[in-house]
Order: sequence, then C-alpha cells, then structure tokens
Amino acid sequence: MTQTPTTTRQIALASRPHGKPETHDFRVETVDLPELGAEEILVRNTVMSVDPYMRGRMNDVKSYVAPFDVGSPLDGGAVGEVIASRSAKVAVGSQVLHGSGWREHAILPAAAASVVDVGAAPASRYLGILGMTGLTAYVGLTAVAEMREGDTVFVSGAAGAVGQAAGQIARALGAGKVIGSAGSANKVARIRELGYDEAFNYKDGPVHDGLRAAAPEGIDVYFDNVGGDHLEAAIGELRLFGRVAMCGAISQYNATEPPPGPHNLSLAIGKNLTLRGFIVGQYAHLAQEYRGKAAEWLAGGRLQGDETFRDGLENAPQAFIDMLGGANTGKMLVRL
Ligand code: NAP
Repeated sequence: MTQTPTTTRQIALASRPHGKPETHDFRVETVDLPELGAEEILVRNTVMSVDPYMRGRMNDVKSYVAPFDVGSPLDGGAVGEVIASRSAKVAVGSQVLHGSGWREHAILPAAAASVVDVGAAPASRYLGILGMTGLTAYVGLTAVAEMREGDTVFVSGAAGAVGQAAGQIARALGAGKVIGSAGSANKVARIRELGYDEAFNYKDGPVHDGLRAAAPEGIDVYFDNVGGDHLEAAIGELRLFGRVAMCGAISQYNATEPPPGPHNLSLAIGKNLTLRGFIVGQYAHLAQEYRGKAAEWLAGGRLQGDETFRDGLENAPQAFIDMLGGANTGKMLVRL
C-alpha cells in the first residue's frame, strides 16, 4: 500500500504581477497535509492546466471569479489519482478532475471532484478538448454566436487550445469557410492541417489586411479570443447580422492601462451586429451534449487537440508565462 504523504509542494502567488508576470511573482512552498476530514479525498495530481483567465485572477480586481490572494496557493484545473478517501462516493484509485491544481497533492471534498475515465482518454484530455476548453469552443459557436450552416467563421488565437477546437467544431457544424489567425508560420501551417480553410500570421502585418485577404467576401461569425486589433478588424469585415462570441481578450491581459475600445464599434448599428460575451461556466447545461458530440468527432478524426507539456510543479509558473507569450500549440499543460 502507498504511504500517505504528510507534506506536499504547492505554488503560491508571491506578488501581483505588474504587466507581464515574472517567475518571482510565484513561490514554490512545502506545506503539511492535514488529516482527511469526513467526505474528503486526497489526490496525487498528475497533470494541471495553466489558463489565460488565471492572469486576471492575479490582479486585485472584482471579476466573475475571485482574485488569488498574495501569499496563498493558486488553484485551477487538475487531474490526479485518489490515494486516500473518507468518502464512499469516490474510491481510492479513481482518477478525478477537480479545481485544486498548482500543487502536487490536493485535499478536497469528494463532491468537488468528478471521476474521469482515463481508459477512454488520457487524463490531460479532460483539461482540454474533452473539458472546459472544448466546451468553451462549442458554447461560443452554438449558444453564443448562433452559428449556422454555411457561415464564414473567423477564429483568433486559432492555434491555441480553444481556437483549435473552435475551428474544427465550426467545420463539423457545417461552416462554409473557416479562417484562423495565429502568431507564427508553424501555427498557421498546423491549423490548416486541422481543417482551417484560410489562415494568417497576425504578426506579418495589420490584422485587418490579413483578414480581408482571407475573406474578401466578409465574415458572418467572429470567435474572439484576442480582443484589441483583432476585434476591430472583425467588426470591419462582419456582414449584415454578423455575430461575435466574445470569449477572451488575451492581447490585453497584461495591460497596465485600460485598453482602448474598437474605434469602429458604431459599425455594429448599421450592420445589425450582435457582440455577446460569455463565460463557459454559465453554460454547464451544455456539457453533456458537447461531450457526446466531442466523443463522436474525436473517434471520427474530425476533432483533434494538440497538447504542449512542461514537466514539474516548479516549472508551472514558467509554463503559464510562456503560454501567455504563445509558446504553446493547443493546450498548455504541466505534468506533475
Ligand atoms: P491558448 O489560446 O491555448 O493560449 C494563449 C494563446 O494566446 C497563446 O498561445 C498565443 O498564441 C495567444 N496570444 C498571446 N498574446 C497574444 C496577442 N497579443 N495577440 C494575439 N494572440 C495572442 O489559451 P486558451 O486557454 O485556449 O484561451 C484562449 C482564449 O479564450 C483566452 O482569451 C481565454 O481567456 C479565453 N477563454 C475564455 C473562456 C470563457 O469562458 N469565456 C474559457 C476559456 C478560455 P499566438 O502564438 O497565436 O500569439
């Protein structure tokens, strides 16, 4: 029988980043593991997610999710093996998905974990294409942008975790044309392989030029992962009754001043545009529907999701910083 550990390592927020996060904003610490309480489980985390939204939580601002506290451990999505349990509902040996990442071991209520089948798909998949990432892409296209068959769909951040999923799901749902933007020639080549009809490197020139060349006929749906110049370019190219799913604005997450809004927003009036923001957590009711479709698309080879791995808890802060800077293709994950 495995010896139950009495200590573990975790990453705490050492200071609030100003602009781009630096490794000194994080601290690795060793802490005691308390005794398990009733209905609690002890999980040995094997893989954890680093996500753009965590950057917002490092600021001391009110948002849809509470900020991280300086001096306290970070948290986020993780999968691991249950190595001790005081709950009849979750057995030792189960693999569980939960929200206590950024640590090697986590103690949490059994009710806060969901058992995943790592025989059906690797643990990491439940943090990416089969998890929050894939659901975000699906929700953004369907419930938020109300994509229809034949639509021309533009996705920014297209080689990232959500972006790869969004392009392929748009294609699976019958989009007429799918266009993506990404930050390197390799990423552009990769998303073309994944089924994007047109793709451009937004670092090669103004986004507006890249988009207009890729879609001279205009676009119907914009799946916005980036904000800023991408949003402005999309507003310029959207057709009558075009729709924007405002998923994220990663170009602005490290901003130290309030970023300006799109200069051409008033075009939304004449073009009858809809710009609708969303948080995937509000669409949990679509998770089962998505999982069914995703399993089918994955099995049929219509949906793939790249993964970029880093190893070791101590490298998680750098993985997070590198993800914000574009080092990942597909989902950025840390093996623990
Ligand atoms: P990701 O796309 O896998 O990783 C972030 C990517 O952003 C980087 O790889 C980088 O790729 C790109 N990027 C960084 N700075 C940029 C800039 N200035 N301009 C353009 N691209 C830039 O991350 P993800 O987890 O899939 O998240 C993608 C977006 O979805 C984020 O905005 C995130 O906040 C949002 N999101 C929203 C929800 C929701 O519920 N609304 C849920 C999940 C994620 P390049 O090399 O291409 O620059």
